[in-house]
Amino acid sequence: MSIDDIIKRESRAIFQTYTRQPVLIARGSGARVWDQDGREYIDFVAGIAVNNVGHCHPRVVEAIKRQCELLIHTSNLYYTENQVRLAEELKSLSGMDKVFFCNSGTESVEAALKLTRRATGRIEIVAATGSFHGRTLGALGLTYKQSYREPFRPLNEATFVPYNDLEALKSAVTKETAAVILEPVQGEAGVYPASNEYLRAAREICDDRGALLIFDEVQTGFGRTGRWFAKEHSGVMPDIMTLAKAIAGGLPMGAMLSNENISGCFQRGDHASTFGGGPLVCAAALASISAIRDENLVRRSEEMGSYLLRELSRLPVSARGLGLMVGVDIDKDARAVVDAARADGVLLNSTGEHTLRLVPPLVVTKEEIDRVVDVIGERL
Ligand SMILES: *Cc1c(COP(=O)(O)O)cnc(C)c1O
Repeated sequence: MSIDDIIKRESRAIFQTYTRQPVLIARGSGARVWDQDGREYIDFVAGIAVNNVGHCHPRVVEAIKRQCELLIHTSNLYYTENQVRLAEELKSLSGMDKVFFCNSGTESVEAALKLTRRATGRIEIVAATGSFHGRTLGALGLTYKQSYREPFRPLNEATFVPYNDLEALKSAVTKETAAVILEPVQGEAGVYPASNEYLRAAREICDDRGALLIFDEVQTGFGRTGRWFAKEHSGVMPDIMTLAKAIAGGLPMGAMLSNENISGCFQRGDHASTFGGGPLVCAAALASISAIRDENLVRRSEEMGSYLLRELSRLPVSARGLGLMVGVDIDKDARAVVDAARADGVLLNSTGEHTLRLVPPLVVTKEEIDRVVDVIGERL
């Protein structure tokens, strides 16, 4: 099928909720993908911070192949070994106490909201301006962008406070507040890290008011920011942490983790998922986590991230980030730069009119970074 053919057929068959770029991606390996005609692209989108171990990592592929010949799906009415092994792995990596498995980021936020209600009996949530927590009706209420929420009211909407503004948080969180939810580094907003002081103060404010602190690490998890989880930069332990995106090496999975203080608040029947924690995704997640560990991808993320920022500093841009999660403000229209870079064999993502978000696979090489920085430089 040609790209023109696909575009036409897609528009007839699929809800037109996405703004897609006209490229038909057929396969991928490491930090590269190829279109139907064999054109190669360096992928600095990585499925939006999903393909941390690179496309089709051999260990993930092997684990999926092996598992799918044994068992693809059963039900949470029964036990499976992979689910328990993965939960133990997540516990030890994060220091959290218990895990609920679901299938996406927004579902992990929904699970966090339900646990929060159970644990506090309160309903009010405080979130930050610029936040993104998902698109289902619960998570949507915590997502900042007005145009996402407006058509779907009524929602249980959060009180939004300016990100990184300690005083604003102090006055917004009351004894009625159920939880404060924050991304340790805001992704969709254009890559803005929270200061360590802000996150530490958020912890104290929540403790003082009896509110829970939720870290949405859906995008920042699994080495993305140069740590296994972004919370390690500040050392702050949240009560709840949400995960998804890179968790299973590219397969759909989400997880909601909580601390000991509240993990007893979910009782049998309080929450469930037909597919959550299935044997196939768990096998992929275990393989992906082993690959991150054995190939030192967390350290690599930190090193390559510094290298990327250093190289970007030679361009007339303003760049910031942690690890391989980098935001770049440019004078030009970001969409035009994305289109032009694609013609040069580089896939980029814009998160605002003048902002690029660079989230390549953590296996990206210096040569690939050089090429991408050159292409961005030329297109400015
Ligand atoms: C992507 C994202 C979500 C939503 O994840 P989906 O899998 O698309 O539902 C939630 N929170 C953050 C921080 C994200 O980056």
